[in-house]
Amino acid sequence: MALVTSTEMFRKAYAGGYAIGAFNVNNMEIVQGITEAAREVNAPLILQVSKGARAYANHTYLVKLVEAAVIECPNIPIVLHLDHGPDFETCKSCIDGGFTSVMIDASSKPLAENIAITRQVVEYAHDHGVVVEAELGALAGIEDDVKVSAEESHYTHPDEVEEFVTKTGCDSLAIAIGTSHGAYKFTAAQCTRNEKGELVPPPLRFDILEEVSRRLPGFPIVLHGSSSVPQEYVKMINENGGRMPDAVGIPEEQLRQAARMSVCKINIDSDLRLAMTGTIRQFMAEHPDKFDPREYLKPARENIKQLVKHKLVEVLGCDGKA
Ligand SMILES: [Zn+2]
Repeated sequence: MALVTSTEMFRKAYAGGYAIGAFNVNNMEIVQGITEAAREVNAPLILQVSKGARAYANHTYLVKLVEAAVIECPNIPIVLHLDHGPDFETCKSCIDGGFTSVMIDASSKPLAENIAITRQVVEYAHDHGVVVEAELGALAGIEDDVKVSAEESHYTHPDEVEEFVTKTGCDSLAIAIGTSHGAYKFTAAQCTRNEKGELVPPPLRFDILEEVSRRLPGFPIVLHGSSSVPQEYVKMINENGGRMPDAVGIPEEQLRQAARMSVCKINIDSDLRLAMTGTIRQFMAEHPDKFDPREYLKPARENIKQLVKHKLVEVLGCDGKA
């Protein structure tokens, strides 16, 4: 099957009370780890590419890697999505260049401007059979060159969503309910500590999600910044020469709850980075004599696969839904 849009995926996910995993890809091993996991558990999949990934790996390489995955996984539907498109030109370039879905993120602009830019992208995208994700509200954290301080971040205002969706014609909407980009989602001061001394972040604002869903019945909602920052990998990094004190993410049971509600797409990136880096750090520490990149990239790819499988089955609930 060729690359698909997310329209049918989201319709089924909404009705079925699960979410589609949207995983960021930057190189071959990451593409392979993710897609092998999805193939094994028969899950539909969104592979997403950020502006930073295009700058790192080059648009053509990424598109061709994803096309290779489509050939290797003929039985699962795969979407190729632009993550955080900063402007019309970037979205147009991806629409013209083989993507089936784009995000226009004008959430830092005033509402009227966000509506105007999103509308422009939607018109072009829909003319080319491509779907559009837009954003209202501002997540804290750092992703590529999107940096939002905790003070600048704000939750989505539910009273804006109907006007926004009606006027823009967007196909899905990312909202801010307390998730955050990166591996340091909350400061220690924002958290409590459990009996193991690990940070416990403040809960997601499910009241906002419920109000948004009430105003947009049947409409797919997206959560960004939804890594859970597995402490086993933070520990693996710290025990092998790394230094990531107090890295903390979103508890998986809260993401599962969101997936049962109107959230149809959950973005996970940092967890894959942690799995890859932890695995490579450990390998390097244990095998100081090795120098063949395949020897450390192979276990890194395997651990990405196991992590994604866990997310698909235990967090998103999309296994068997391809
Ligand atoms: Zn994001």
